[in-house]
Amino acid sequence: MLQTIALLVIFISAPVVATLLFFISAPYGRHFRDGWGPSLTARAGWMVMEAPALLVIGLTVLASGQKVGPLTLLLLALWEVHYLYRTCLFPVLMRGGASRRFPLLLVAFAFIFNSLNGYANGTFLAATPSLTDGGFISGLRVCIGIALFAAGFATHVWADRDLRHLRAPGEVGYKIPRGGLWEYVSNPNYFGEITQWCGWALATWSLPGLAFAVFTMANLVPRAWANRRWYEATFNDYPRERKSVIPFVF
Ligand code: NDP
Repeated sequence: MLQTIALLVIFISAPVVATLLFFISAPYGRHFRDGWGPSLTARAGWMVMEAPALLVIGLTVLASGQKVGPLTLLLLALWEVHYLYRTCLFPVLMRGGASRRFPLLLVAFAFIFNSLNGYANGTFLAATPSLTDGGFISGLRVCIGIALFAAGFATHVWADRDLRHLRAPGEVGYKIPRGGLWEYVSNPNYFGEITQWCGWALATWSLPGLAFAVFTMANLVPRAWANRRWYEATFNDYPRERKSVIPFVF
């Protein structure tokens, strides 16, 4: 029942969030502005809002008492690796922007989303001892899904690292990232994140997986568009041919 409610909330809110974000960019990072109530540091904000994603899924599977198979365990481990990175490593490593303010309101929204999402996906994993029916097609689907997940993860970790290295420790300004995927899109980190959760949806072949992939796109596609417009408005020499997030497409 709670899983159904969580999925309804995610599926219904995704188009609303996407539409709103095309008009009002979420006020954090380069788009931070006053007037959004109390705030905390970006570093603390990332740690607090991502923590439920790290904890809830594992606790949900554990609390179910169900015995899950090796593929399901592998998927759970991949999720946890991603959220260990996002909750613990990314905020500690971030430069300059770590001391930037981050509205409590956004932290609260993300905290609720991550709790619902972790619960919905955890409930699915606990109820799915095997992710394949033993056939070739389902085996191939899971392999492609895991490969996409791994490629997406590597892409956004690599892009986050590139961004970090644009700043010396303590520096807070912005520069134009160059080279590799940066020549194709303004936000390869978002491209990696979207690829990763599409891979998760494919590997799990589940409504919770689909819900998360859809919500990630609803969140990151408008943000990527706003970031690209911000780059163009901020730097005269910003390469206009770069797309926002999907190479050659958008
Ligand atoms: P950004 O790309 O806006 O920023 C990432 C970091 O790089 C921040 O510390 C930022 O500093 C810094 N940075 C960004 N651009 C530049 C630049 N041109 N020069 C110097 N430093 C720069 O990403 P987000 O903060 O929006 O997201 C961080 C990660 O979280 C991403 O990998 C993203 O994929 C993921 N994410 C996932 C979501 C999901 O729905 N699954 C939702 C949101 C994010 P500053 O903070 O000062 O701007």
